[in-house]
Amino acid sequence: MSVAAPDPPGPPEGVERAYPLSGLTTIRTGGAADHFARAGSLERLLDLLRWARAAGLEVGVVGSGSNLLVADDGFRGLAMKLDADLATIEADGPRLVCGGGARLPQVAARAARLGLSGIEFGVNIPGTVGGAVRMNANAYGGELAEALEWVDVATPEGTSRRRPADLGFSYRRSNLGSREVVARACFTLSEADVDEVKRTLASMRERRRAAQPSGIKTFGSTFKNPDAPAAEGRSAGQLLDAAGCRGLAVGGARFSEKHANFVENSGTATTADVLALMGEGRRRVQAAFGVELEAEVQLLGGAPPEWRS
Ligand SMILES: Cc1cc2nc3c(=O)[nH]c(=O)nc-3n(C[C@H](O)[C@H](O)[C@H](O)COP(=O)(O)OP(=O)(O)OC[C@H]3O[C@@H](n4cnc5c(N)ncnc54)[C@H](O)[C@@H]3O)c2cc1C
Repeated sequence: MSVAAPDPPGPPEGVERAYPLSGLTTIRTGGAADHFARAGSLERLLDLLRWARAAGLEVGVVGSGSNLLVADDGFRGLAMKLDADLATIEADGPRLVCGGGARLPQVAARAARLGLSGIEFGVNIPGTVGGAVRMNANAYGGELAEALEWVDVATPEGTSRRRPADLGFSYRRSNLGSREVVARACFTLSEADVDEVKRTLASMRERRRAAQPSGIKTFGSTFKNPDAPAAEGRSAGQLLDAAGCRGLAVGGARFSEKHANFVENSGTATTADVLALMGEGRRRVQAAFGVELEAEVQLLGGAPPEWRS
């Protein structure tokens, strides 16, 4: 005789149904999450993670959505956003203890005001601390792992503290799984002259303005820079450019004229347009140079295209 599994418990308060996610991403495409909730404290985050596990739901954290592509037919799970106590930045001597939902440019600006050096590169990464840890984000040679002292990771089982050596960092990767949420992180920085750190931030912003399009809907780098010998040291942007992809469009999605590895949403793009454009870019680079480009952008919901690694 088979016994029916018990019904999962009802959702914690404040869990919304059919919540549109496109507005939470910088590319502004994609559908709704079946369930959506904000977590403003560690207790709330743990409650939500436990409920999702009991209800058999996948979990997806949305940071600033700056490297995220949501499927057009949405996400069949619980999408969460960290805010309030999980988005604070607190100074403690040379340390900044940040919520996983704190924004990295704000962390860099706070460090500069305090005369702390080591996280300047964060000024150009429009993501959250949690998203940056998960993606091992960096820019202009700045290394997240060098400034990071520890990360508190929340799972349905509770919270554990991990050091950078335990996070499996490699190029744009960590070993964090989808039910492992960066709740808090601590950066240990070095004391420096306030004006000098501020000057570094200003020059990094300026370099960025010159190199990348601004004021557009994009998720930044689409593909990782390949390390295959056939790439001969060229970046993903240089390969896409040389394969004729600069300005190439599918529907409302287009490879930027200013930076060929950036996809822009001209206003009407769907996620299907973006994926079709990425597929075409990838095919052209493969045909021209024999290099397999690997996506950097993360997909939430939908079946991943077979060319994604
Ligand atoms: C204009 C522009 C420029 C950019 N420049 C750079 C650059 O120079 N260098 C660089 O590395 N990146 C760059 N990016 C990409 C992006 O900003 C980074 O990857 C960033 O770290 C993503 O953070 P996020 O909070 O937006 O994460 P999201 O895009 O929201 O999510 C990305 C992944 O992280 C996961 N995630 C988010 N928050 C958490 C959390 N708290 N715990 C666990 N997992 C989490 C998500 O589930 C998803 O898998 C750029 C993007 C744009 C739009």
